[in-house]
Amino acid sequence: MNECLIIGCHVGLSGPSYFLSCAEFALSLKANAFMFYTGAPQNSVRKSLDEMHIDEGKAFLKEKGIPLSNLVVHAPYIINLANKENLENYEFAKSFLKEEIRRTAAFGVPTLVLHPGARKEASFEEGAQNLADALNEILEEENNVKIALETMAGKGSEIGRSFEELSYILSLIKHKEKVGICLDTCHIFDAGYDIEDIDKTLGEFDRIIGLSKILVVHLNDSKTFKGSHKDRHENLGYGAIGFETLLKYAYDERLKSVPKILETPYVNGLPPYKKEIEMLRNGEYQENWKEEIS
Ligand code: FE
Ligand code: FE
Ligand code: ZN
Repeated sequence: MNECLIIGCHVGLSGPSYFLSCAEFALSLKANAFMFYTGAPQNSVRKSLDEMHIDEGKAFLKEKGIPLSNLVVHAPYIINLANKENLENYEFAKSFLKEEIRRTAAFGVPTLVLHPGARKEASFEEGAQNLADALNEILEEENNVKIALETMAGKGSEIGRSFEELSYILSLIKHKEKVGICLDTCHIFDAGYDIEDIDKTLGEFDRIIGLSKILVVHLNDSKTFKGSHKDRHENLGYGAIGFETLLKYAYDERLKSVPKILETPYVNGLPPYKKEIEMLRNGEYQENWKEEIS
């Protein structure tokens, strides 16, 4: 049982006591890290921070010895800053992201994961510029939250589908120290990377972006084949990536200090994370483990 591994999963921020419940639930799964949305991922309705039991959650985590640096917030996926054909939507997305940064800071969480967005009819360069302009404006604000741009599978017109694209986006950012990367194993596999060869993939990442830029790892198997550009997450060991490869990313020395977050699908309507975390901590795969979950 490896207790040092910084591993957790996506958890819902919901009642009765929001942040506190969320932290308690994560720890009940033997997680020492977790990721949450500050409200529904698909809309902009947000409850007031006063109702979130933030101080109680922080006190609980402190008592359990979990640093807030193990926590991650994910920005709602409706935020699209890569296209500004509809200026009103672009302005709304900007102000909403600014608000999300403020909320993330209130939880004491240092990292906010953001999808680089869909360029739609715009060229990649225009899309990258739209995103960078927005971040350059928003990140003037003084706080300690860093944005982690997620590596994308390349579905539709998503930007950030390769290390080169992400490197280009980063080159346009003014406050470089405030923007890093979230490496999603399912997404880079679906984008076409030889993920099973971790030295090749991380070597390439290091050459093009720099490994110190990685702030979070999303550990997911993939339902589809390499290069499919689909973005369909699968439970550990049930997909095309496989448990052994994912285990390499969990334990690689180069990623040691970075939280690893599972975003795998529910099994029979239930969260599968306790079992997935246990297998990762033990470094051992249990065949047909899903059958236990019901
Ligand atoms: Fe994501
Ligand atoms: Fe992800
Ligand atoms: Zn995904």
